[in-house]
Amino acid sequence: MITIEALHKKFGETPVLKGVDLRVERGEVICLIGPSGSGKSTLLRCINGLEHYDDGIVEVLGTPVDRDKKSIHEIRTQVSMVFQRFNLFPHRSVLENVMEGPLHVQKRPLAQVREEAQALLDKVGLGHRGDAYPQQLSGGQQQRVAIARALAMKPKAILFDEPTSALDPELVGEVLKVMRNLAAEGMTMVVVTHEMGFAREVADKVCFLHDGRLVESGPPEQVLGAPEHPRTREFLRRIL
Ligand code: ADP
Ligand code: MG
Repeated sequence: MITIEALHKKFGETPVLKGVDLRVERGEVICLIGPSGSGKSTLLRCINGLEHYDDGIVEVLGTPVDRDKKSIHEIRTQVSMVFQRFNLFPHRSVLENVMEGPLHVQKRPLAQVREEAQALLDKVGLGHRGDAYPQQLSGGQQQRVAIARALAMKPKAILFDEPTSALDPELVGEVLKVMRNLAAEGMTMVVVTHEMGFAREVADKVCFLHDGRLVESGPPEQVLGAPEHPRTREFLRRIL
């Protein structure tokens, strides 16, 4: 579903991704871990065209993600992203937030979009809050709305960039639960996270990024349980 080969990206003169290779198969859940500044967000942003890259291959379903406007538009409707800060529209109701993309980007019919948006809110446990405004919700609820909004585009894959890092600890579980359900339904997901319990339980593959390179990848029990690379060991020792 997603193919990345020899991906290089600089900001100015500073290399940030230094030859990253990654394949994501349909239905796979990849957890991307690594220290702050290692390039995790940049890697995700290259996958859905939010960031240009300098060299290498990034393909989604065989379509290269490049500067061509048409391809970027196509990719953005196929690959949704959920951010650390939920990025909901503050002046739109919860239901309107979920309807926004399908209605205005995909130009699908209102009645159908409304019905689907309501079903998605039900799915994330917020069917009764459609008329609320984002500020009236807790952070965990807002993030669940953001996930419903991402799903509303009927994406082929969802990228999550530290979706629980901005949440109070007691709200993390409700968001992880929604993500766990999505994974169980077969959604293809790339998740940047520091939630090692989630990674251990849900990920098919854990990839450790250090200083712009994927230094270790494999099943969670291997990368988290018996890491081979000293950098991985050091990182895990610090966060666990
Ligand atoms: P992570 O998500 O792993 O914390 P990022 O991908 O955000 O790492 O950043 C990787 C590196 O690129 C960091 O050194 C960061 O300062 C730098 N960086 C990220 N975005 C920009 C930008 N827009 N302009 C310049 N440097 C950036
Ligand atoms: Mg980041």
